[in-house]
Amino acid sequence: MSEISCTYLVVGGGIAGVSCAETLVVLVDPKDSIILITESSLVKAATNLVPLGKVLTKFDVQEKSAESLNRNIQVIEDQLLNIESESHAVTTVNGNRISYRYLCLCTGARPKLIDQAKGNPNVIGIRDTESVQEFQKRVKNATRLAVVGNGGIASELVYEISGIEVHWVIKDEYISSTFVDSGAARFFQERLTTRGEQKSIVKRMRYSEETAGTSTSSGAKRGAALGPDWHRTVDISGKLENVPDAVKIHHKVEIEEIVEQTDGFPLKLRLSNGEQIECDFVVSATGVVPSRNFMCDQEFQLGPDGGLFVNWEMATSVQDIYAAGDVCYAGWEHAPHWFQMRLWTQARQMGAMAARSMAAKRAGETIYQDFCFEMFNHVTQLFGYQVVLLGRYNGQGLNDKYEVLLRMTPGLEYIKFVMVDGRLQGAILIGETGLEETSENLILNQLDLSPYGEDLLDPNIDIEDYFD
Ligand SMILES: Cc1cc2nc3c(=O)[nH]c(=O)nc-3n(C[C@H](O)[C@H](O)[C@H](O)COP(=O)(O)OP(=O)(O)OC[C@H]3O[C@@H](n4cnc5c(N)ncnc54)[C@H](O)[C@@H]3O)c2cc1C
Repeated sequence: MSEISCTYLVVGGGIAGVSCAETLVVLVDPKDSIILITESSLVKAATNLVPLGKVLTKFDVQEKSAESLNRNIQVIEDQLLNIESESHAVTTVNGNRISYRYLCLCTGARPKLIDQAKGNPNVIGIRDTESVQEFQKRVKNATRLAVVGNGGIASELVYEISGIEVHWVIKDEYISSTFVDSGAARFFQERLTTRGEQKSIVKRMRYSEETAGTSTSSGAKRGAALGPDWHRTVDISGKLENVPDAVKIHHKVEIEEIVEQTDGFPLKLRLSNGEQIECDFVVSATGVVPSRNFMCDQEFQLGPDGGLFVNWEMATSVQDIYAAGDVCYAGWEHAPHWFQMRLWTQARQMGAMAARSMAAKRAGETIYQDFCFEMFNHVTQLFGYQVVLLGRYNGQGLNDKYEVLLRMTPGLEYIKFVMVDGRLQGAILIGETGLEETSENLILNQLDLSPYGEDLLDPNIDIEDYFD
């Protein structure tokens, strides 16, 4: 067993871990050592950062070799096994024992499969390279697929896949409900009836995990969660040449039972409305479960979703252990317009916050929570559009007591303002609206906008000029 020692130990080569390690490099005394444990020789880093406002930042996620990280970060390709918090040390799968002063856990999350899957090999989740390889293998020989779930992963999948009949099973009234409301869903839905015709160029970097990675016993590679462009680097087409264009959406239903068949399609799904779907396999994209795949001599306080409960400093309940990204549960009292959602944006912000907190603790300094936690903020691409989500963009937590102002130009833009008592609580901006910073300001300063009434989104009024 090798004995290693460091000041800061970060576990996980995803966005949260890399953001934490890279922020530490900037903040800490160069004499203090930083170690990053990563399961794969490729790590994920945020690049090409473009600020779109005070808190809103658009960035690409790039996969890079762990060796290309700042040379003050010592990278160890390994897997965390056990934490001895009393003695401030961890042990790893490869037999290392690493002592730390501060530890930050950024082990991400794994896909949650629908309950009915019960170990069924024809029900798969998509999370990392390993699961994409599995998906690709299956889709090549398949003619009919069922996708379950209504978040970002399911939305991108049904939009991008070709050469296969797709049945999309959602429990909501409209598609992509994690991100948008029913109006925006209708705006998007048109894209599904013309699948493949008008995909626009994606600006984010694409990445590939083809060349490196720690092999698991099955010979596959492990690594960080995939990002939104995973489907660009792998061929995800089925074997059909003439496939109906439209995705068949099954609204407001759930899968009640999955029956295995020996004749025809391998699976028959019974839906809660009595309908049946026969298909080759099912992709379950119904959320994630925090990855607590290590042991510890003390019990961590957990959030209701099983994540490691952290306070605003990203400190867990165990002394000198922090956590960031998908693995954690944001346990502090949130600002009125912020809530947790397991996304790259928050993984990056939390990783940096954990680094600041650890560095401050070591230096005996006082810090404050980063401004980005004042308001939920996220930029992504859905169905080929830039999508900006701000504050309580879907009326989250407003108990249906809000008004909505809408402006939509089909095929071009969709703007939704969520208002309470004339004050902006959240916004969805789809397309190139140029309203990012104005919307941020209006949410943060809670200006009374009632004098403008419905004119606020009048296309003839340039609201940016009013409020910037
Ligand atoms: C298909 C897909 C599409 C997505 N699309 C979007 C999107 O459009 N926009 C968006 O913002 N977010 C998206 N997400 C979510 C986003 O990927 C996650 O929120 C983000 O990756 C979380 O970062 P993380 O660093 O916390 O975790 P991860 O990226 O999962 O990284 C965790 C790391 O920890 C490592 N690890 C785990 N256990 C151990 C251990 N015991 N020892 C050592 N290392 C360990 C893993 O190998 C991995 O490298 C998507 C996710 C998926 C799966």
